[in-house]
Amino acid sequence: MYAGKIVEQAPVNPLFEAPLHPYTQGLMAAIPKMDRPVPANRRLQAISGIVPSLYELTTACAFRSRCNFQFERCSEEPPIFEAGPERSVRCWRHE
Ligand code: SF4
Repeated sequence: MYAGKIVEQAPVNPLFEAPLHPYTQGLMAAIPKMDRPVPANRRLQAISGIVPSLYELTTACAFRSRCNFQFERCSEEPPIFEAGPERSVRCWRHE
């Protein structure tokens, strides 16, 4: 969920192996890997920006200000798109 809405649904293994939504991808990339420790001079990956205030949401995709993949279409809120067996994602990249 992001900003109060479901952005991706999938069975556990496919979700962890290949997340589709940029927010899910950012969350997965931020998980420390015990078998690959982060060198002392590096930081864990983080999603830039902050969650928008629910009072300031526009008609655009709520993740737009933090998304590295945003394009023109993202000025409209995406619906949920089917993205495979038991998978769905709220992102225009999967239209
Ligand atoms: S709809 Fe656009 S801004 Fe929203 S997550 Fe997808 S690519 Fe990013």
